Amino acid sequence: MPDRNRVVIVGAGPVGLVSAICLARSGIPSILLEASPATPRDLRASTVHPPTLDMLDEVGVAEDYIKLGIITECWQVIHLGTRERVRFDLSAIKDHTRHPYRLQCEQYHLSPILFERAKASGLVDIHLGAQVTQVSQDEDKVVARARVNGEPKEFEGRYLIGADGAHSVVRRCLGLPLEGFTYDHSTTLITTPFRFEDEIPELVGANYTWTWLDAGSMFRLRDEWRCTFYPRPGEADQELTDDVIESRMQGILKRSEPYVIREKRNYRIHQRIVPDYRKGRIVLAGDAAHVTPPTGGLGMNGGIHDAVNVADKLARVCNGEREDLLDLYTRQRRPVAVAEILAQSHQNRIRMQLWDADQRKEVMAHMRGLAADPERSKEMLLRTSMIEGLRQAAAVQ
Ligand SMILES: Cc1cc2nc3c(=O)[nH]c(=O)nc-3n(C[C@H](O)[C@H](O)[C@H](O)COP(=O)(O)OP(=O)(O)OC[C@H]3O[C@@H](n4cnc5c(N)ncnc54)[C@H](O)[C@@H]3O)c2cc1C
Repeated sequence: MPDRNRVVIVGAGPVGLVSAICLARSGIPSILLEASPATPRDLRASTVHPPTLDMLDEVGVAEDYIKLGIITECWQVIHLGTRERVRFDLSAIKDHTRHPYRLQCEQYHLSPILFERAKASGLVDIHLGAQVTQVSQDEDKVVARARVNGEPKEFEGRYLIGADGAHSVVRRCLGLPLEGFTYDHSTTLITTPFRFEDEIPELVGANYTWTWLDAGSMFRLRDEWRCTFYPRPGEADQELTDDVIESRMQGILKRSEPYVIREKRNYRIHQRIVPDYRKGRIVLAGDAAHVTPPTGGLGMNGGIHDAVNVADKLARVCNGEREDLLDLYTRQRRPVAVAEILAQSHQNRIRMQLWDADQRKEVMAHMRGLAADPERSKEMLLRTSMIEGLRQAAAVQ
């Protein structure tokens, strides 16, 4: 017989895994269904913000994760041609977080740590290779139908969290539209072991960059740099040929040797969100509920904030509180996703995607004014590091 309080979670990405761990900490068992045979190793998130590190610390995984990454106390906007820059120091928000820095560490390092933590809790029943094809619900329960090693299987629980990413089957079964738009152009992401830190002393761990020809970002990881490039004006989707990549890398720093490129990918970006995070006994979290451009590193962070919030609500409902507490999850998290996550990542992208020298100067001047004003820059840092969004959510009752 299934445990009466069991929660079914679809998707063992960072959001599904954090949900499972948080539920287990409240004594609520879950069944976690993941389509892949293991946690994916793909090139996705690498920026983790202070309040997310505080949350990961609470579930006992921050220390192991931080060890695998690079602590970045500052971020900056920099023109790599002129070396003009404006820097922001996260120590300004040290009274608001136990981790006043960004961690630069790949998402594919976080997922296995979370996975082991979930397993060790003894309350998470994990099924890898379980591709959920359908979810349904009635007054008492939810049912997820999946194919496990080609065999059809059913999993029952009291509630269900759809944490199955941007192409969510759970969202489709609920008939919830992912409203918004898709950007016209893709972004290019490249990793290289080249030690830019030895050649460009003005760089910090997180850089939003302009060169004479390009706009993008550069993030330092443990043993490589991640460079992103927006398409140049008038350019369609960027080609990933060696020549195109080499010309962009040479724009960062001219050198006689070609750059060694480890990985390269183009990704299409969207700004979309569902109208409601809940339908009956089923809730959505993370990319299943909202997708956003990676600029500013808000998607996975925001998804983890969803997970902590919804796990708390579900645990309280399972422990006897009223079911309409689940509506509070949407009321708290959805407006923050719209006003802080989607809007901020869009603004970040627009701010950097400027090609005109005068416009770039204007942005620099604006940022310099901000950096020179401790109150305003602290306010901005509280927003960009997602602390303000969490406060706004907590204020909604
Ligand atoms: C290039 C790039 C860079 C990024 N950088 C950042 C960053 O620096 N910081 C940041 O915060 N965010 C970043 N993001 C966004 C971040 O990667 C996502 O927001 C994050 O992965 C969302 O986590 P999730 O658990 O909701 O979904 P996912 O990570 O997509 O996990 C969903 C899981 O569900 C499983 N699944 C899917 N369908 C089914 C099914 N039918 N049945 C069972 N399982 C299923 C999948 O296999 C997967 O394991 C970046 C994204 C990209 C593309």
